[in-house]
Amino acid sequence: MQVIHAAQALLPEGWAREVRVEIGDGRIAQVTPGAAPDGQRVGLLTPAPVNVHSHAFQRAMAGLAERRGPSRDSFWTWRELMYRFLERLTPEEVEAIAGFVQMEMLEAGFGASVEFHYLHHAPGGAPYDDRAEMCARIAAAAATSGAGLTLLPVLYRFGGCDGRPLDGGQRRFGNDPQGFARLMEGAARAIAALPDDAVLGAAPHSLRAVAPADLGLCATLAGEGPVHMHLAEQAAEVEEVEAALGARPVRWVLENAAPSPRWCFVHCTQMTPDETEGLARSGAVAGLCPLTEASLGDGTFDGVRWSSAGGALAVGSDSNIRISLAEELRQLETSQRLRDRSRAALATPDRSTGRRLIEDAALGGAQAAGRPAGAIAPGLWADLLALDATHPDLAGLDGDTALDAFAMAGGSEMVADVWSAGRHVVTGGRHVRRDAIARRYREAVAGLRAAL
Ligand code: ZN
Repeated sequence: MQVIHAAQALLPEGWAREVRVEIGDGRIAQVTPGAAPDGQRVGLLTPAPVNVHSHAFQRAMAGLAERRGPSRDSFWTWRELMYRFLERLTPEEVEAIAGFVQMEMLEAGFGASVEFHYLHHAPGGAPYDDRAEMCARIAAAAATSGAGLTLLPVLYRFGGCDGRPLDGGQRRFGNDPQGFARLMEGAARAIAALPDDAVLGAAPHSLRAVAPADLGLCATLAGEGPVHMHLAEQAAEVEEVEAALGARPVRWVLENAAPSPRWCFVHCTQMTPDETEGLARSGAVAGLCPLTEASLGDGTFDGVRWSSAGGALAVGSDSNIRISLAEELRQLETSQRLRDRSRAALATPDRSTGRRLIEDAALGGAQAAGRPAGAIAPGLWADLLALDATHPDLAGLDGDTALDAFAMAGGSEMVADVWSAGRHVVTGGRHVRRDAIARRYREAVAGLRAAL
């Protein structure tokens, strides 16, 4: 039994002082406000949101696609570099990079990671002897980092809506439905080797990369787990889907895919007002990756309309160009302000911007991860974030204002402690295995980058 004593904690019913949190077997066992100090003292305790969207290997490309090319640079030229890069990646390197990414997520205040994992096969496209070798590497990284993992093996079949075959670097992604079913069996074995909070779901990559019937196949193979899909990220993708399927992507999903709370749609930066409201009301989570969406010039999610319609949201770091919980939340909020020339766009009458974003990202993230967590309440996994009350920018602040200072003016430097399903993985702002994980990452990426 671990005991945490927080000067202030954000509970489902609001802020409470002098809160004792007991953790047993990774779950919150008891929460007692107004308790006498005992156990580990922390300043400000909140739920630690799940990072709901990551392609871990892309972390090693951060900063490498920022020069002007011969033609107008775009998402699609970035994607070409990404494909060149992953023609080289080995399973050992993928594990090293994923471990580093998960460590950085925890140090940023995320409590767990959802890996949208599509790099399955050897260069050229031949499966490894163990078809789920790469899934096992992601799971092994989680065993090292201690990050709670929701693994989403990705079904990726085609190079576009016309059903063209995969080409070049994409060949490492491809599975037909039978191969994908076998891959899922191997992924289930990899997940079974992790602590009990690990979850297996599945992900049809996008409407461009699978057949319409594959959405149902993935939902079936995911069992009780969550189902995620990229949706409405790029204007060119909207045009391609509309031409092939006869409807814009979100409209098509609403009419054909029965979206529900077990679904998470990633990006959703290209939606009409009607689509925004319809998808919000389906109960599906919008998996937003504001830093990556800004980096790739995707467009702006309509968070104001989504929230007005009662939509659930969560954040992820996607390309991992920068891993920061506070900066993802800030980019989400400031994108709304810039578009609407407004302030406090996502605050509610009773909750400030920072509090609203952290609470909703925690609840929506847990839902999207299929992870009973997201609040400081008995029975849930103890995914907890303690901010450093001694940080100069938090001095004299408490409650909602302290969370505003973290989300809108601060960042990872304010993170003191993080627990993932009770595993105390960050202490004093530092991951408990940082040196070894960082060394392994450095060695892996130095060679990769030199060869580009
Ligand atoms: Zn993605």
